Amino acid sequence: MTTTFVSPRLLMIGGGAVGKLAEVLGQFGFSKPLVVTDPWMVSSGTVEKALAPLRAAGITAGVFSDTVPDPTDTVIEAGVAAMKAGDYDCLVGFGGGSPMDTAKAMAILGAAPAGAKMRDFKVPAQANRGALPVIGVPTTAGTGSEATRFTVITDTERDEKMLIAGLGALPLAAVVDYELTFSLPARITADTGIDSLTHALEAFVSKRANDEADEYALRAMRLIAPNLRTAYAEPSNGIARAAMMKGATLAGIAFSNSSVALVHGMSRPIGAHFHVPHGLSNAMLLPAVTEYSLNAALPRYAEAARAMGVATAAEGDQSAAARLLQELRDLNRDLAVPTPAAYGIDPAAWNALLPTMAEQALASGSPANNPAVPAAEE
Ligand code: NAD
Repeated sequence: MTTTFVSPRLLMIGGGAVGKLAEVLGQFGFSKPLVVTDPWMVSSGTVEKALAPLRAAGITAGVFSDTVPDPTDTVIEAGVAAMKAGDYDCLVGFGGGSPMDTAKAMAILGAAPAGAKMRDFKVPAQANRGALPVIGVPTTAGTGSEATRFTVITDTERDEKMLIAGLGALPLAAVVDYELTFSLPARITADTGIDSLTHALEAFVSKRANDEADEYALRAMRLIAPNLRTAYAEPSNGIARAAMMKGATLAGIAFSNSSVALVHGMSRPIGAHFHVPHGLSNAMLLPAVTEYSLNAALPRYAEAARAMGVATAAEGDQSAAARLLQELRDLNRDLAVPTPAAYGIDPAAWNALLPTMAEQALASGSPANNPAVPAAEE
């Protein structure tokens, strides 16, 4: 029996880390980065926090900022063209999961023969080659993409959010600076924070859980659970922001070496069809999916409740797991997570797409890792 464990070769974590980006590139001998980011990062001046220290070190970076939330295959193709037009030696994904996933997908598609499409790399294929190494610099405490072997790309022809896995998507290095998250609005703080909590919980209860991933998942839950409400209510609370950011990266390492499960499997079709932000659709699903799954892995859910600080060590599994479920419901209330209808999704359109979404969720592979695996009708 063997276990394979992957994570970036270099992880720099802490306040001010982005100021040391040039140092990190220098350690690998890179001097011509293409920074992949989103339009807001440019218009708000946030990307300057990466570009200025690079300039000070004599490094002029290219910038590709035409990324979109929930990146699409067409944007990746444009990114690959920009990448190939310059003589770059690495990609820096700067932003939330969307720009980081864009950079990772550009590396994968850029290494493929002409005419290849992102859908060629959809799971179960393994996207192990990358044209350029990727350095992830997250600005949300959420996806953990800076430390995972995944990228999630929408196939625009089929309106399908595809999970793409492989070492080609694993960043070489991650520079994780919580100070970049002070500007996050409350809504995005909540959504991305629940995303990271979902990563840790799903990694821990997954059928593919293992000792190594467990350690990261438990540490992530210990950091995220007591700090998410504070980060939401007090955007400039450095202690909460630091805990959330580290927790998100650790949760990313956890699910990258275990898996996500039913919440993520169901969340991707909702995101693709109704354009609900990824973390928010996870949040909408998390209590109900946990309730559905609880009895299939009671000791695991109970252990998660203890790590999150909502149950005591002395408490039995049944009671601890019940507390976990209550905490997830309370969290959604406290973070003002809407129902799909309250979010503005037309119930008729929702019902019409349910069979397709169920089929797409089950086909993605993630639900098969859940402690309880539903049939499409469920
Ligand atoms: P995002 O990158 O789409 O960003 C959401 C919004 O937040 C954007 O408008 C962005 O400009 C803004 N934003 C980002 N950082 C900010 C900051 N510091 N201050 C103010 N605004 C800021 O959101 P996300 O939730 O980080 O990423 C979601 C994407 O990541 C989805 O496509 C999801 O499927 C994917 N994902 C990938 C993985 C992986 O392992 N690769 C894991 C989970 C999710």
